[in-house]
Amino acid sequence: MPPNALNRIEVLNAARCEAGSLLLGLDFDGTLAPIVPRPELVAVLPAARAALGAIAQRGDTHIALVSGRSLADLRSRVVLDGIYYAGNHGLEIDGPDVHRMHEEADATRATLQRLARELEQALRSIDGVIVEDKTLTLSVHFRLVEEEAEERRVREIVRACAREHSGIRLTDGKKVVEIRPDVDWHKGRAFRFLRDTLEQRFGRAPAVFIGDDRTDEDAFRVLGDTDCSIVVGDPPQHESIAQACLRSPDEVAQFLQRLA
Ligand SMILES: [Mg+2]
Repeated sequence: MPPNALNRIEVLNAARCEAGSLLLGLDFDGTLAPIVPRPELVAVLPAARAALGAIAQRGDTHIALVSGRSLADLRSRVVLDGIYYAGNHGLEIDGPDVHRMHEEADATRATLQRLARELEQALRSIDGVIVEDKTLTLSVHFRLVEEEAEERRVREIVRACAREHSGIRLTDGKKVVEIRPDVDWHKGRAFRFLRDTLEQRFGRAPAVFIGDDRTDEDAFRVLGDTDCSIVVGDPPQHESIAQACLRSPDEVAQFLQRLA
């Protein structure tokens, strides 16, 4: 396990002070909100939300939430002004003076809509599968599917349906298969885009990124030595390149309180 990020607060506060600002990137599910069996019932921890609000008020820390959820869904679960929201793994970004939609991804909406209907049909006989249509991406969740054999069957059906369409690609996650436009874009590129945009306005600032998923590793990878990548988990669910860790969303909230 990498060292606990709570021990890096002083270093980060000093770096923020010296540079005049800090960019704080965060994943949502499993980072700001504990994972629950039904993704539609996930809620941000009140302590984490309060701390984010206080950080946003400081004026020297830019917050970017980067999630696999759709932009609208992500925003509706956090409801804070003055921060950046990057939904669908960064394919859609919105925040103070930044509005960006990935064009190629936008063009696959119709394909994904058709595929969502086909998946609903094909997976209807398996209890506990949820096909979530996020317009720019789809997620097939099976946190409620208990048997491993059934889980394998879900993954096979999803792959078979997806093969009939072009311009999309699949990624396997924890109890989920994500279907995305086959474009060279991910959380890391979205975070770097935001960082570059903010740098032009406010100058170079150190960056922190906190996340619990494999897809967050893409964001960790675009950080440099003087930045801070933080993986969430006790232990993390995968091999991570993160420099530090936090054990749970509760500990993320503590970390945020101390940054506030
Ligand atoms: Mg996550």
